[in-house]
Amino acid sequence: MSVPVITRFAPSPTGALHLGNVRTALFSWLYARRHGGRFVLRIEDTDRARSEPAHEAALLAALQWLGLDWDAGPGRDDLAGPYRQSERGAAYAAAYSRLEAADRAYPCFCSSLELELARKAALLAGRPPRYAGTCAGLDGAGRDRRRAEGASPSLRFRVAAGPIEYTDLVRGPQRFEGADLGDFVIRRADGTPAFLFSNAVDDAQMRITHVLRGEDHVANTPRQRLVIEALGGTPPAYGHLPLLIGAGGAPLSKRDGAASLASLAQAGYLPGAVLNLLARLGHRYADDGWLEVPALVAGFELAALGRAPAHFDEAQLRHWQKEAVQHAPAGVLEAWAKGRVPPGAEQAFVAALRANLLLPADAAEWAPIVYGELACPPPALGALLAGAGTPFWEAALAAIAAGADYEALVAALKATGAKGAALFKPLRAALTHRLDGPELARLLEVMSRSTLTLRLEAAHRLAAGAP
Ligand code: GLU
Repeated sequence: MSVPVITRFAPSPTGALHLGNVRTALFSWLYARRHGGRFVLRIEDTDRARSEPAHEAALLAALQWLGLDWDAGPGRDDLAGPYRQSERGAAYAAAYSRLEAADRAYPCFCSSLELELARKAALLAGRPPRYAGTCAGLDGAGRDRRRAEGASPSLRFRVAAGPIEYTDLVRGPQRFEGADLGDFVIRRADGTPAFLFSNAVDDAQMRITHVLRGEDHVANTPRQRLVIEALGGTPPAYGHLPLLIGAGGAPLSKRDGAASLASLAQAGYLPGAVLNLLARLGHRYADDGWLEVPALVAGFELAALGRAPAHFDEAQLRHWQKEAVQHAPAGVLEAWAKGRVPPGAEQAFVAALRANLLLPADAAEWAPIVYGELACPPPALGALLAGAGTPFWEAALAAIAAGADYEALVAALKATGAKGAALFKPLRAALTHRLDGPELARLLEVMSRSTLTLRLEAAHRLAAGAP
């Protein structure tokens, strides 16, 4: 019987969720859903000084907004919980005791100053700066003496010499030398667990089968495997994703304002746009068109993960947002229009302008053009409007007064001898005070006769040379 897939997302609630983290969550979620497995959310809040409940609440809300639901996590406890590391002290204490009892871990009394000096000396001598093993051989009496002197020890994991080999799901075969790693700290002198320890213990206890995470964690993996094996567990398979690169070529970071999910959601980007974008940063789909969530799940393959740096760029985001808007239920876009267009006009507005709405800001921009009272045409358009000549505007006004639709209006203007750009450019400029925008036919479906008349009259006055 094959082991069911269990993946996890393990964010630290120390700041806004940025897109690199969201991508990690997404890939882990997609893989679990693809295989009918479980997706676990674990909050890594051992850094008490920097972790904040508000950040945790924001990241839960962000995952919910994206539709990345979790099967176990804060508020969804099961036997492997709790799912906040700050509540898992008992699990770590038990693991420390087991490792100490088996002599796989030992107390280290070296001060941070001693460690720093040793590190510098090693670097100067051209040796890798690993722990020299000063406290590795202390016997019981030696430890008691140091404790009596008031030293509070950290706890180090004893790394045996020999190769550590495994295959990374993205980077292929990996090989590390135990002797190169040095004995590493698993409990700090202040009693808090080191990140790589609590992370490994939890992965083992939560029976995580696949860890997908950023490649900044590559160097933690051999140590985490050793810890899990020493505790009698089976390490998960690890896949390290290339970091997301921002516009400047530097890795996207929490400092990048635009790279935070919250800022995108606030600007009105739709979840589907973010999902389609991120699912392709470091992963290739056979189909490079818009995919709904079930298709994103069905097409997600570990074999399609890539090692090349994944570039995030604004233009791609806008491309997927355009797709998302085209595929969005009308209600989502009508909410953008609400309060900006006359009550009851939302549906017609969205039906006519959907192709021109990328963000709620576009609804705000177009609503007054369609429904509002615009001031005089901008001076930059004066020559264009005047140049069309009074017969052109008179024909347009007569057609609108006679109830003409778009076709009939164009026919009436053609009858004046106007055609092509000389017809459509001034007409668009008169009706919208702009040179770009929705198809005129669609605009005429939503603009009222009185608005059309007022705009055409203003153009006529310009052509007639009136002030
Ligand atoms: N809390 C770690 C982070 O946010 C988790 C790393 C991992 O996924 O193992 O980087």
